[in-house]
Amino acid sequence: MQNDIQEILISEEEIQAKVKELGEKLSTAYKDRDPLVICVLKGAFIFMADLVKNITVPIELDFMAVSSYGASTKSSGVVKIIKDLDQSVEGRDVLIVEDIIDSGLTLSYLIKLLENRKAKSVSVVTLFDKPTGRTVELEADYKGFVIPDAFIVGYGLDYTEHYRNLPYIGILKPEIYSN
Ligand code: 5GP
Ligand code: MG
Ligand code: MG
Repeated sequence: MQNDIQEILISEEEIQAKVKELGEKLSTAYKDRDPLVICVLKGAFIFMADLVKNITVPIELDFMAVSSYGASTKSSGVVKIIKDLDQSVEGRDVLIVEDIIDSGLTLSYLIKLLENRKAKSVSVVTLFDKPTGRTVELEADYKGFVIPDAFIVGYGLDYTEHYRNLPYIGILKPEIYSN
């Protein structure tokens, strides 16, 4: 698995420091608001787990699974809900936890959905942001790293469902894609 990585773009230590910093910001922002923190599966599962350990105020958690890419590396624009939330968002302060924003299509769909379900507020925290990939106007409320327009894997992010368990962010060797 490590042999498939061409370059480590962001180390485990850098990620952990950033997640701690985001947790501190969110602890201040969501003090006394008991937000519903929503993990967008699968990509955000590791970020979610590390992030909530750094949030020091009361929160509730829920999980949603969506798929926008299939097995490819580019967004199809079609967002499919594979697993919906267990609870209502009506009247709640909602924080969406995302792994990465590229085109913005997945998130803009999710934000609209939660607003239609009458959430009190909908905010977004993303660990990675690729602003050059945007096809819809969308800005995260909280973000970790702005990255160049490359396809990254690790720390929850996959290529054909592999590499999610790498503790760092890497770029795959080009020959992996042509297999
Ligand atoms: P968007 O809808 O913003 O184009 O893409 C959203 C989803 O596509 C992300 O949550 C993530 O699952 C996937 N994605 C976007 N860019 C990358 C990337 O560089 N690497 C990986 N592994 N997934 C990505
Ligand atoms: Mg995602
Ligand atoms: Mg994926």
